Amino acid sequence: MQFLANSLLELITQTSANLPPDVRAAMAAAMPMETPGTQAAQAFQIIADNVDSAYRDEAPICQDTGMPTFLIRAPAGVSQVQIRQAACQAVAEATRLGKLRPNSVDSLTGKNTGNNLGVGTPIFHFEQWEEDAIEVKLILKGGGCENMNAQYSLPCELAHLGRADRNLEGVRKCILHAVWQAQGQGCAPGALGVCIGSDRPHSYELAKEQLFRTLDDVNPNPELARLEARIMEEANRLGVGPMGFGGRVSLIGCKITAANRLPASFFVSVAYDCWAFRRLGVRLDPSSGAITRWLYRDPERPVARLAGEEGFTLTGREVVLATPLTEEAVRALKVGDVVLINGEMYTGRDMVHAYLMKNPPPVDLRGAVIYHCGPVMLKQGDEWFTKAAGPTTSSREEPYQGEVIGRYGLRGVVGKGGMGAKTSAAMKEYGAVYLHAIGGAAQFYAQATQKVLGVHFLAEFGVPEAMWHLRVKNFLTIVTMDAHGNSLHADLERATGETLATLAGG
Ligand code: SF4
Repeated sequence: MQFLANSLLELITQTSANLPPDVRAAMAAAMPMETPGTQAAQAFQIIADNVDSAYRDEAPICQDTGMPTFLIRAPAGVSQVQIRQAACQAVAEATRLGKLRPNSVDSLTGKNTGNNLGVGTPIFHFEQWEEDAIEVKLILKGGGCENMNAQYSLPCELAHLGRADRNLEGVRKCILHAVWQAQGQGCAPGALGVCIGSDRPHSYELAKEQLFRTLDDVNPNPELARLEARIMEEANRLGVGPMGFGGRVSLIGCKITAANRLPASFFVSVAYDCWAFRRLGVRLDPSSGAITRWLYRDPERPVARLAGEEGFTLTGREVVLATPLTEEAVRALKVGDVVLINGEMYTGRDMVHAYLMKNPPPVDLRGAVIYHCGPVMLKQGDEWFTKAAGPTTSSREEPYQGEVIGRYGLRGVVGKGGMGAKTSAAMKEYGAVYLHAIGGAAQFYAQATQKVLGVHFLAEFGVPEAMWHLRVKNFLTIVTMDAHGNSLHADLERATGETLATLAGG
């Protein structure tokens, strides 16, 4: 199988850089549904531009390339050991080339392995089948949406929806609850894989497997097909919208399966995927490992652009700010303002915040903007280059952010999904703002990064968690939490919660 490793490297590269046609079609249908000029429409415009850039440059659509999960079917006699070895080789090579971010972290030491290989990484599911071909399907699902997965044990009580019983009506409530509780944190609009039944771990596994169905297929079980259609209609009435900015599109797909359960258990498992729904597959020749056919793709249909035009159209009403930010400039901002940041910026996520709680920063952070981001970086010669740099979910820093702002004088926090009451109070007290970047728009923001000026804690924390010092130009964000205690996220959670309550009765 001399071509096997190369074929799998091509599969990984294409999965990371090119959305499958069914997802593109769902996004293309969703985009015109948002009113031009709204934050939802702006988010879609950036997403579309990002998808086109990633395809053009064969670069990661999103910097979080997720946990590579392979579904492999092979005929009897084909060595699983050989396939696993080739896949690991391809994953390590794709990481070296910057197609995948180093994402595998030792859970005990916190050390990043640097090549996406490690205990339990990548994930393989093997199956033997009758056909004389190897089929490999791959999904790359990042941490932001993975953290929005939900599992319910019926009967249960759900916020705004009341009791969910052990029937399809109870299942419907659980799924709607999952969409509502994700808000924008899983980079809405999302797509759901759902499993009704089975035991806890297998139910989650079957839910994730539903994400290998195309978004436009129809469930062969008429009852589940009806439920899928109903969820799509009702979830898109919730008003969560792209990025949780509010809007008409919260979901681009819902795929449901059912498996038998124990009499005592009734689980509903929801695998939440984001708009950057990266899933592809190939058929391979079992003797050479060469690709004979792509799955999910139609060779007759060339890849069409998603964005109407290149880049993001500025209106002239944007607020242009240079770092370091002054308290006066920050207090003048209000929720809804579009801000273009110029100057220097530092990335900082989980490990940096944990460090700052115990130690002083390695640089002066007064007036600084911290970016919740774990980028893909490549070193060429002595210089680092940003290959993908979208925001990560900010809520993970909620326990620390307020204190870090107060202690070190930060004026801006860039991330996605918003933050909570503690951060909001600190922003009001000290004069700081939360600037929402568009989740998953890793190429859009990589292009706004002019230069990597330096890096702190690279050896200790690894690439995604290190503190990167960047120079940015026209780095586009939207104020969603201002220095006066206003929060788009808190307002929207309340409003969508009220809408959710209207769906309780069925
Ligand atoms: S688009 Fe958002 S949720 Fe999806 S992988 Fe990227 S950062 Fe994570």
